[in-house]
Amino acid sequence: MRKVFIAGNWKMNKTLAETKELIAGLNDRIGQISDVDIAVAPTYVNLESAKTALAGSSIKLAAQNCHHLDSGAYTAEISLPMLQEIGCDYVIIGHSERRQYFGETDLGVNEKVRAALAKNVTPIMCIGETLEERESEKTFQVVETQLVNGLKDLTEEIVKQGKEIVIAYEPVWAIGTGKVATPDQAQEVHAFIRKKLTDIFNADVAQGVRIQYGGSVKPDNVEELIKKEDIDGALVGGASLKVDSFSQLIERCVPAKV
Ligand code: PEP
Repeated sequence: MRKVFIAGNWKMNKTLAETKELIAGLNDRIGQISDVDIAVAPTYVNLESAKTALAGSSIKLAAQNCHHLDSGAYTAEISLPMLQEIGCDYVIIGHSERRQYFGETDLGVNEKVRAALAKNVTPIMCIGETLEERESEKTFQVVETQLVNGLKDLTEEIVKQGKEIVIAYEPVWAIGTGKVATPDQAQEVHAFIRKKLTDIFNADVAQGVRIQYGGSVKPDNVEELIKKEDIDGALVGGASLKVDSFSQLIERCVPAKV
């Protein structure tokens, strides 16, 4: 059975002092939970302090992005060896805000996923359709294209070496809008993603991959979502920024699926 995995994406929020305060609060409330995998993704500049603050906690550390090369003349970019040295367990790749505002493409996502796997930092690869794409009934086509391109030529790493990858299905129209996909809407796409993972890799791999849902997940809707067969957790933005809401959200996952 796939263990529920909830990750909080803090985006460009929280100063250093606020990051430490939030982590201290989360450590107190949910830092010893082991029935659910938990990660938080602070901004780059606070990653090292966050790692220190998370010592002794079961909460893992994630970065929000990375460059695919190890080093070089790429002003303001951050490489996987840097994240690896700090002790990041996960890296979010291809978030819709990166695609929308910073021109990230499926090809770039694929390069980053490959680089993350090579450095044993588990990628959380984000995919999802816009409102316009959903309304013109292109959801499955868009999701399939992003999935196939993002996972191109990874048989060696995923099938042969057995490395982990997490997929986050995040309908763009549900991110930060308060409009959550219904559990049935989300499940339909998650089941489709798992079927495609079977085609891309094989049934064993597809059954093991955790597929998170993201888009306005809150304490009061998370249970219904993760009860669905193919929804294995959530990537959470807004509700991960406060101790109370993120802790409640995690606590509600403990009895719901485990
Ligand atoms: C996100 O940014 O990945 C996200 C899901 O945000 P929110 O939970 O605020 O919709």
